[in-house]
Formats: sequence, structure tokens, C-alpha cells
Amino acid sequence: MEENTNTPTNFIREFINEDLKQNKNDGKVHTRFPPEPNGYLHIGHAKSICLNFGIARDYQGLCNLRFDDTNPVKEDVEYVDSIIEDVKWLGFDWDDRMYYASGYFERLYDYAVQLIKDGNAYVDSSTAGEIKNQKGTPTEPGINSPYRNRSVDENLKLFTEMREGKHEDGALTLRAKIDMASPNMHMRDPLIYRIKKATHHNTGDKWCIYPMYDYAHPLSDWIEGITHSLCTLEFEVHRPLYDWFLKTLNLENLPRQIEFARLNLTYTVMSKRKLLELVMEKYVSGWDDPRMPTICGLRRRGYTPESIRNFADKVGVAKRDAMTDVALLEHSVREDLNKKAPRVMAVMNPVKVIITNYPEGQTEELTTINNPEDESMGSRNIPFSREIYIEQDDFQEVPHKKFHRLSPGNEVRLKSAYIIKCNEVIKNDAGEIVELHCTHDPETKSGSGSTRSVKGTIHWVSALHAVKAEIRLYDRLFTIEDPSSHEELDFKELLNPHSLDILSNCYIEPELAKAKIGDKFQFVRQGYFCVDPLSINDKLVFNRTVPLKDSWSKIEKK
Ligand code: ATP
Ligand code: MG
Repeated sequence: MEENTNTPTNFIREFINEDLKQNKNDGKVHTRFPPEPNGYLHIGHAKSICLNFGIARDYQGLCNLRFDDTNPVKEDVEYVDSIIEDVKWLGFDWDDRMYYASGYFERLYDYAVQLIKDGNAYVDSSTAGEIKNQKGTPTEPGINSPYRNRSVDENLKLFTEMREGKHEDGALTLRAKIDMASPNMHMRDPLIYRIKKATHHNTGDKWCIYPMYDYAHPLSDWIEGITHSLCTLEFEVHRPLYDWFLKTLNLENLPRQIEFARLNLTYTVMSKRKLLELVMEKYVSGWDDPRMPTICGLRRRGYTPESIRNFADKVGVAKRDAMTDVALLEHSVREDLNKKAPRVMAVMNPVKVIITNYPEGQTEELTTINNPEDESMGSRNIPFSREIYIEQDDFQEVPHKKFHRLSPGNEVRLKSAYIIKCNEVIKNDAGEIVELHCTHDPETKSGSGSTRSVKGTIHWVSALHAVKAEIRLYDRLFTIEDPSSHEELDFKELLNPHSLDILSNCYIEPELAKAKIGDKFQFVRQGYFCVDPLSINDKLVFNRTVPLKDSWSKIEKK
């Protein structure tokens, strides 16, 4: 089948095109996304998801979702459920092709029996330490296990006993009989099965032997009819073993493993172990903490599926590991929300302004457009009254030279409203500003045809009508670009202590009182924000997805 896409080509697509030209697999393309359910998915997985499902889509092929659940100790249904939710949310569909490697345990066992019968596998009584010592080093060959030449019958008997639970954890293993002198360490009689008397989230206590990833993966791919098995670069050295199992079992129509570089993102960590540590030790509020690089964290932060898919396309695939700038991810979400999010006004650090020449008790409705990027989003009314809030930062008592916003004796435009002038600064006994007394020029109402202009425009909300809200500002989770590069340190020492700033005294337009969890807005001049699930009853909590402009400088200056 011809490739049908505008996506730029890459080495993976070139391999596939080559296979199709030779009419391999009857011209079919079938991929899979194979997460291990031992943690929540992160942005690196999103890249793999977009790649696997994207290729299937572009070649009119199929992509399976397969849980690689061969290690009962670390896996859990909580993770299975979250993975299903996240892949769906990203916009991909596996129809009825959701599988579990554990669903193949019986067949994997049968294949292992066949390997034994053919003299290609043996049961080893060596301890883990002994096996390690037999391994050799990259420059020295390994040595054969003293149990390597057990008879087929003895191997079959012991392997059956392993399955029946007659031996303790670690007492016996099943190993492939390949070559202890192979220059590739993975080919030096790798383990196929180990005994683990643990309850599995799917198979319960049915099994007490579990297959190793390197054995289960190629066979799971083959059972599902996968044609192209895309995985990350660390598996490149495992590829000969991947092929060895399939060829040694005399299977046909073999899947082809193709490796690509994993995604690494600046200022975060991507290892599931480290993410789990942050969650368990409560450095973050959970897997979906908006500072986490997890898909559920990004979703809660306000990222859209489109922005993540576009990001994955922009990153592309490479053959060499590299670090991707998180600014590219932020750029992708700005680009998407710029078109979609209504623009509204919110004051994060309020100071009250009294418009002394505006009649007390009077209110008027002003009109403002929802998004200049998309006229079809229409316009809305915003109430104006004698008392408003503006941002503390938009006032300077002694303005510095280039400050064109509000200052004593100076004018500024209130967006979609009037030009106001500051006449008086009211302070409390501690010398803090409590109110600004201003007058408005009634001739300058926005949309009235007034041509008078001033240099600055600021946002505001009517104090009488505004709704109170909490706004959460997020910064990088770590203080340095590559927190994993300091092996001598505990990575948690590199956490950014200022990654969360909670502003609890914010005022937003009354229109936003109706906002629902997950709704996204641009707060004009400030950034993109999303309603957090913590918003219950009358409390509204917003997460800042990204500021309008890059905010790197903050950490670097520190
Ligand atoms: P572990 O560290 O537990 O092995 P993993 O990151 O390899 O975890 P898996 O659940 O095994 O996680 O990954 C599922 C799929 O996602 C695999 O094909 C893996 O290669 C891919 N993947 C994982 N991390 C990344 C990443 N950072 N970039 C791209 N693909 C990734
Ligand atoms: Mg893995």
C-alpha cells in the first residue's frame, strides 16, 4: 500500500517503503505501542505513540496497543487504566486490538518447550551471581555454565517443575543456548524464564515463572502479526537476539525491529523510576501534577492533544540521542491555543482603581471580541463600573523611562474600555498603595470611533462584578537542563524550589464563573490558562499552561 501523507519522510518510513517495494508482508504495515504498565505515560511515550499510530494511519495499516506485562512485581491495573485513557486522549484508536503479553503466557511457554526440544535452551541451576560471573566482559568471552549440556529430557522435566512451583525463586532459570563467546553480550546464553512467585495483575497466581522481555517481545510481535517493531535505541544491541528467537523457532513472516532515539526534554526527567520517586515521596502532588512530564500532567496543565501531536511531528525521529528543548513543546501549545482559546481578562495581583468621575452605582456593558485570530468565535460583553482592579505591575508611582502604563498624571487605555488618567495615590499607614484614584475620558470608549490614542493598554476587571479565583503559576520542575547528567547527586536535589507559585487573590471576568474543568483561555497579556480539577463548588483554580512569552530567564538569573 502506498504511503499517504504529507509527513516528511524519515529513515523508518524509508525502511518501510523498501519492504513494501519488495512486497514483504503482502504490502501490509502493522505496528504496536507496547508500554509496560509500571507507571504513567510521559511525553516520551507520546512520541512513540504518535510514531506508531501515525505510521499505521499513513500506510493504511493497523497499530495495536499491547501491555508488556511480563514483570508482575512492578505492574498494576491502575497503570493499565491510565495508559488506556492517555492513548485515547491523544486521539488514537486501536479498535479491538488491545492485547497483553500475559495473554500469550501459554504460547510463550510452548515455544520455550520447543526451544528445549530442539536443543536451543537449557535449565540452569547456577545462581544469579554465578550466571553473572559466567558472562565475561565486552572484551573477554564468557564461560559455559556447568549445566549447559543437560539432556533434553532433564531440561523438560526441570522446566515443568519450574512451572509447577517445585523450585524457589532464583533456584533455576531457563537460558537460550547461543554462544558464550559472542562479541554481543546479549547473545551469551540470555535468560528466557525466571521463577518469581508473585501475583500477576492479570493472570493472578496461575504462573510462577515469567518470561524475560527479550524473549516475550519478539514473540508477542510475531503472534500479533506485527510487521515493523519500532523501539528505542537501547534495543539496537538486542536486535540479534530478537531475530534469533524468531528464526530459531522456524517462524515465517518475521517482524522487523527498527530503533529510533528516545525523546529527552530539558528541565525534566523521563525515567519512570524517577517519576515514581517524585510521586511516592510527595515532591509533586501526584502523577498528574501539572509540573510532571506525564501525559496526564500535561493534560491538567492545559496542553491539548493536538499540541502534543504537533510537537511529536516537529521533533521527528533520529538515530542519535539528543535533548529536545522544552521551549519547543511550549511553542506547540501556544501555537494551538492561540487559535482556539478565547481571550479574557484576569488580574493576578490586583490593585483597586476608583474612577472618580464615573457615576456611583452605574454599570455598562462593553463589547470585546473573543479571539482576533478567529472571528467565528464572536464577541462578548464585559461589565464596566466605577471600581475596577488592575495589575499592580501596571502602575509605577515613579515610572522608569520606558514605562508607558499607569503612573501619576499619566494616561493609559483600559482594554476594550476607556482611557484613564491617574490623579491620586492612596496609601495606608504602612505606606503601601491601597487605591488609585483616576478619571476616565468618556469620549474615548473603545469602538466609539474615538481617535485619541495613548501608548499603553492594560487589562482590568470590574471590582463589582469580578469573580475571585486562584491562579497557579508553574515553572520548570528542575533547575538545570539535564537533571540526569549529575550521577553523583540525588536528582531530587536539582528540583526547582520555585516551580509552583500559588496566587490566591486573583480576579477574573464574571463570564468565567461558568468555566468548566479543562476549559482553556488566554488571559490577555499573561499567557494561557486552564481550569483545574480542584475547582469545586464556587472555587475556581486556574493552571498557567504557558506564559505568552518565554520565561526561561527566571531560573537562569537565580
Ligand atoms: P522502562 O524504563 O520501565 O523500561 P520505558 O521508558 O522503556 O520504561 P515502556 O513502557 O517500556 O517504557 O515504553 C513503551 C514504549 O515507549 C517503548 O517502545 C519505548 O521504547 C517507548 N518509549 C519510552 N520512553 C520513550 C522516550 N523517552 N522517547 C521515545 N519513546 C519512548
Ligand atoms: Mg521498556
